[in-house]
Amino acid sequence: MAHFTFEKSVEKISSFPRDHIPEIALVGRSNAGKSSLINALGNERIAKVSQTPGKTRLLNLFLNKKDHYRMVDMPGYGYAARSGDEVRSWQSLAEDFLLARVNLRGLLLIMDIRRDWSDDEEMLRKLADTRSLHFGIVLTKADKLTRGPVISKINQLKQEVNVETVLAVSNLKKSGLPEIEKLMWQWVQP
Ligand code: GDP
Repeated sequence: MAHFTFEKSVEKISSFPRDHIPEIALVGRSNAGKSSLINALGNERIAKVSQTPGKTRLLNLFLNKKDHYRMVDMPGYGYAARSGDEVRSWQSLAEDFLLARVNLRGLLLIMDIRRDWSDDEEMLRKLADTRSLHFGIVLTKADKLTRGPVISKINQLKQEVNVETVLAVSNLKKSGLPEIEKLMWQWVQP
């Protein structure tokens, strides 16, 4: 654990590193627990847990030095995009990155376990599908439910949304984290 270090923040696509290091994007609705997850994976406060939902406009890059891949922290969504299956009105940097970045291998959707799947999540699943990216769901705040409901939620999403990989974590209790690292490692293998 704790192989991640903060690399840099980027505000435009041309500032991205020009290399071939594989990348995994972490996307999630504001307040989903994405920053807490990144901090938990880094074993320290490498990501600032934001006070204001939707405040972050940059993409933050974290490097896993041991396994040689990058985690890309995307701005929170869910306060803009609504119409159809377009990626409209989310920050354009996020769109450009998701639609065109060659290094991108997979999308990890971070979601509060108590929330329901919506058009925003479906849009991201479809985008991953279109680009043949790996796609997985990480359900956060598993500590808010007992074990039975956690398992039901995982199974429900697997069936309803047709996603093979659904994991549950608690950033609070630091549970479920090694499984996420293992998944990301699998995704970045050649
Ligand atoms: P972000 O907007 O997705 O980056 O979400 P944050 O990481 O800022 O978390 C939003 C809120 O949820 C904060 O108050 C966190 O303390 C809380 N939170 C995040 N993860 C967990 C978790 O696993 N369990 C519990 N109980 N609270 C969490």
